[in-house]
Formats: sequence, structure tokens, C-alpha cells
Amino acid sequence: ARRHTGGMAECVRVITRCRPFNDREKALSSKLCVEMTPSSGQVSLQGPDGINKDFTFDGAYFMDSTGEQIYNDIVFPLVENVIEGYNGTVFAYGQTGAGKTFSMQGVADIVSQRGVIPRAFDHIFTATATTENVKFLVHCSYLEIYNEEVRDLLGADNKQKLEIKEHADRGVYVAGLSMHVCHDVQACKELMDRGFNNRHVGATLMNKDSSRSHSIFTVYVEGITESGSIRMGKLNLVDLAGSERQSKTGATGDRFKEATKINLSLSALGNVISALVDGKSKHIPYRDSKLTRLLQDSLGGNTKTIMIACISPSDNNYDETLSTLRYANRAKNI
Ligand code: ADP
Ligand code: MG
Repeated sequence: ARRHTGGMAECVRVITRCRPFNDREKALSSKLCVEMTPSSGQVSLQGPDGINKDFTFDGAYFMDSTGEQIYNDIVFPLVENVIEGYNGTVFAYGQTGAGKTFSMQGVADIVSQRGVIPRAFDHIFTATATTENVKFLVHCSYLEIYNEEVRDLLGADNKQKLEIKEHADRGVYVAGLSMHVCHDVQACKELMDRGFNNRHVGATLMNKDSSRSHSIFTVYVEGITESGSIRMGKLNLVDLAGSERQSKTGATGDRFKEATKINLSLSALGNVISALVDGKSKHIPYRDSKLTRLLQDSLGGNTKTIMIACISPSDNNYDETLSTLRYANRAKNI
């Protein structure tokens, strides 16, 4: 794919989503510190000093928002592009418990709250079944990056560390990553569930099954036209590790080591996206982390990127919410 560093701003979309209060916050009688104006994408965060910090995003989704709205408003056009042969990436960012997995996977039993991943499956298979004159082949892979090590969540051996390689024609790829042909939505869902159950989880004070790894579910959509030309779009669905600073989670030992590596990948990602959005940088620092290196061909160039910044409504999470909104703000087009 051709690569250019200018004019990227329109290809990056940043939205924020605030989840409802959870039982813990209710038990602590926490106060609401987030206000949103969904029609204009404005978010106002009230500090402990009573001073508001204001932000504007490409979308602001409050407590009662649904996965359906987010998909239709913002994700749909990106997946359309993937079906046409371009690459696209959707990230969920935020502290543990803020709603990243909820936004990406959602809950199956509340139809309006199905997440980005199952909706993208539906979308892709509906489009491939109804597009005339193009034959489609869909593959999926699912990996995690944990402590800067890459593992296949769908491989025969999910303990094995895989290497990132670069090839003149293929670009950057993970050697030995298993690829799974999917003929329908159900096959994709089974892969999502199987891989999800293989993810690394670690107990911290914040959330007993907090996820300490970044996971990337990739759907490869290959289209062959009647004239024989082939196009390949790649959709990366990324559930990032919790962005919280380790001090608040009481991390020590292994947990501490993880936290530093997690922050390294998240700050590298922030640097790459802000360099792309800024458009002035000659050098995009893809090589600074496994995450950015792996997504190199899906960030920048002719690709679209969406970041869903997930936040808590509660004043006892003020510091983390502020840091999430600042991170998201850096990635935003002006
Ligand atoms: P994360 O993946 O960021 O650690 P989760 O997605 O697991 O957080 O969300 C934590 C909890 O909050 C889960 O029980 C989830 O069902 C709930 N939750 C998150 N976002 C929402 C939302 N927008 N609406 C309702 N419940 C939510
Ligand atoms: Mg999660």
C-alpha cells in the first residue's frame, strides 16, 4: 500500500464512551463527574477542585448508549472500506473496568449491546453474500501481546512466543500465526470465544479478571473480481490492556513488570497516532513497540482508524478518566 504522512487527520476518528455506575461505585456513593453533549461530541469532566476540563471528540456516548449506535454512527464506514480492500483498525482504550471488552465484544443476550466484533462479522458476511461479481474469502486470526511477547490465541500451542517478521511483498507479519477460514458469522464467533478464553488475566485490586494483554482479532477479507483482480482488506479489532497506572492498582512483582510494558505499548501507540494526525512528522515511530509494529500497515497510508476511549462516570476514577481523555485528545483530528 502507498504510504503518505500528510492528510491523515480525516482517517482517525476518536469517540468516548461512558459506562453506567457499577455496584462498587454505587456502594461507595460515588458522584457523577462526567457530562456529555452527544450531539456535539463534547465532554466535560468535573475535577475535585470544582473546575471543569472540556474536550471535544468525534462522538460522545453516555451511559445509556448502545453498541448498535456506535457501530452505525462510526464503525460501519470503516468496515465498508475493509470490504472494498482497505485496512482499518478499531481500538478500545481505557482503564480496567471502563468498558473496553463490553464495547468490542458486548453482551450477546442484549441485542442492542452486541459489540463491534460480532457486528463486524454480520456486516462482512452480509456484504460478501450480496455483492455481485466478486467472490470473497474470509480468514481470521487472533493474537495477544503480553509483556511485549506475541502469542497465538487460536494456535495449537498458545504458550509459544511468535516472532514478528518483515517481508518485501508481505510486509510485516507474525511468523507461525494460525489463519482460520470462515464461511459464516457463527464460525467467526466461535473463534472469538475460543481465543478470548485463552487470554491472559491477572488479579489486581481494581478488577479481579482485569486484562493485562492487548488482543488483536484480525479479519482478512479477500475479494476476487470476475476479471481476476484480487483485493485484500484487513480489519483489526483491538482490545487494549488497561491503561491505569500501576500505583493505583497496587501492582508488585510480575504485575509491576507487566504494567511498565503495557504502558510502553500504549505510549508508543499514542505517539504513532499523534504523529500521523499531525502530518508534519517525517518519521512515524512504528518500531517502538510490538503493537505499533504489528499494526504498521493498518495505521496511516490509506487506512482508517477508530479509537473508542472508555471511561467511568464516577468521581473516584477522576484521575484515570482525565488521563484517558487526554490520551484520546492527542489522537484526535483537530
Ligand atoms: P474492560 O474490558 O475495560 O476492563 P469491561 O468491558 O469488562 O471493562 O466492563 C466492566 C464491567 O462493566 C462489565 O461488567 C461490563 O458488562 C460493564 N459495562 C461496561 N461498559 C458498559 C456499558 N456501556 N453499559 C453497561 N455495562 C457496561
Ligand atoms: Mg476487558
